[in-house]
Amino acid sequence: MKKTNQFKAEIAEMLDLVVNSLYSKKEIFLRELLSNASDAIDRAKFLSLTDKSLVSDNPEWKIQIAADSAAKTLTISDNGIGMDEEDLENNLGTIASSGTKKFRQMLAEKGGESLPELIGQFGVGFYAAFMVAGKVVVETRRRGGDKSFKWESDLSGEYTISDGDRDFPGTSITLYLRDDQLEYLDWWRVGDLVKKYSDFIAYPITFMKKDIPADEKEESRKEREDREKKPLNTMVALWKRQKKDVKQEEYDEFYKHLTHDWEAPFETIPFSGEGAVEFKALLFLPKKATMELFMPNRKRGLSLYVRNVFIGDDIEMLLPDYLRFVTGVVDSSDLPLNVSREMLQDDAVIRKIKDAVTVKVLSTLEDMKKKSPERYAEFYAAFGTVLKEGVHSDFARADRIKKLLKYPTARSDAGKSIFLEDYVRDMPSTQKDIYYILAEREEDARRSPVLEAARKHGCDVLLWCDPVDEYLSESIGEFEGKKFVDIAKGDVSFGSEEEQKAEKDANDKASEELKDFISSVSKTLEDKVSQVRVSTRLTDSPCCLVQQAHALPPSMVRMMRAMKQDVPEEKRVLEINASHPLIAKMKDMDADAQREAVILLYDAALIAEGSPVSDGARFATKLAELMMK
Ligand code: ADP
Repeated sequence: MKKTNQFKAEIAEMLDLVVNSLYSKKEIFLRELLSNASDAIDRAKFLSLTDKSLVSDNPEWKIQIAADSAAKTLTISDNGIGMDEEDLENNLGTIASSGTKKFRQMLAEKGGESLPELIGQFGVGFYAAFMVAGKVVVETRRRGGDKSFKWESDLSGEYTISDGDRDFPGTSITLYLRDDQLEYLDWWRVGDLVKKYSDFIAYPITFMKKDIPADEKEESRKEREDREKKPLNTMVALWKRQKKDVKQEEYDEFYKHLTHDWEAPFETIPFSGEGAVEFKALLFLPKKATMELFMPNRKRGLSLYVRNVFIGDDIEMLLPDYLRFVTGVVDSSDLPLNVSREMLQDDAVIRKIKDAVTVKVLSTLEDMKKKSPERYAEFYAAFGTVLKEGVHSDFARADRIKKLLKYPTARSDAGKSIFLEDYVRDMPSTQKDIYYILAEREEDARRSPVLEAARKHGCDVLLWCDPVDEYLSESIGEFEGKKFVDIAKGDVSFGSEEEQKAEKDANDKASEELKDFISSVSKTLEDKVSQVRVSTRLTDSPCCLVQQAHALPPSMVRMMRAMKQDVPEEKRVLEINASHPLIAKMKDMDADAQREAVILLYDAALIAEGSPVSDGARFATKLAELMMK
């Protein structure tokens, strides 16, 4: 059998970039291949827990690197799970992850320099081999299968799969090194790389020289053989070692191995659980959010080991969803080896570990917030949006999470944000509630006329401009005994009781004086607004639009519409500024002119809050006419 297939377009494109990339750290190809070999053994070990026939050869798990200087080849072999024909096609012919389209897009946008980062992010580390090799041959036999296969590609845009002659399970990957990459045939060089990138791999990695000179001296033969027997890596699981004995670089490399991230982690959190359940954990916060975080079929969760045996990665039961940016490993001796994912679902030990992990992450963030606010701000810029979901979903810890939230406010400079406790501390003594305004963009919120009176009375307003903020507004409840109030909804009043009373009186008086005007405005806008009234919110603008106190939040309306429920368009309230000269002018206009002016006024209110006017052309004509007058 011999089949020739075309690479999927995005792979061909990527390979092209790999080959022509000027990326200097080509050495990381070895880390990727060793990582794959280690994963393959992990999987074989795990599957054999339930299917003993997979390990009928009673394997001694190992990874071997063989160098042949004459043939200029480097071969990385493992006795892990191996691949059958279908695996080969699926794994080494396409990009497995769901982000294919995204990958091409980012490749086009970011260009070759970002390639290593993209390869990592999209889980296509195998192709890094082509950074150093012009041709790659994969010989593999799946454990439990009865055939072996050979996959080959020399970068011509095609790969072939043919029958192989490997008679033991596992995978060997042979790289035909380019002439300027022969350094990787050297024991010292390879040994250094293994130490640097792959020291923690749990299986012995050995190095063997294939082309032995015929006249090798007895002494050097012995020396070589001794050397080749000794693993290049120390094989100690990092999470089992004391923090003080591990260098940050070692943690960094382990993190890269685990996540395929090409950058070091933002924060490393080693810890152990003692007491009710015993476990060791090594958690990481990444530097950057990936778009995966917001995809419905995203990977999330931690890797789980039970007494050194790898059980699975992406174990989502170990992490609440709102901490899904955390990655890492948990190793527990309190679980049985034959656990299945289903069993983990409602396992008491797993629940306890999840609790401990959650508390550890939150306390790490609390610490960071206190000790290095700038670092915390950096973390928050990347993952704050995800963390916020916890206020909604983790009722028991909602108060703790609220303390970690930051918001820009009407008073803060653009790009700056504050914690809720800072907001509350700076509230004027007469202010009872915490004010917020919802908007799609921070600029819109800042400009909103609805904020005018709050500003005048020295009250700051939180600008909630993240899509999740709207959901949060329904579940955030209170903070330090203070309610959250949408400043663009229902009645609001500011200042001391006397001030409020005086304002109410003034308002009643103005409403009485403007009675006729208000009723004619209501008539003109009858199909657009539910009510017209004198505002307590405005100082400088002539008018603004606000929601009724009981109005459904827009998110709810969207959800109900998505469920095909008939939700009528919610009409808002037009509030006018009784002391604005424009209102005084309009009051005395003749009926026709007033009607035109009212419609313009309404459109201007929409524009002021960043909403589109319903008939832009009409608005433009009317404005021009008015200017002519
Ligand atoms: P990733 O490892 O991130 O999934 P790779 O491109 O490195 O991406 O590998 C693609 C897939 O090929 C792996 O997920 C795995 O299924 C398979 N694979 C790679 N190397 C091996 C190996 N040594 N043994 C078994 N399967 C392998």
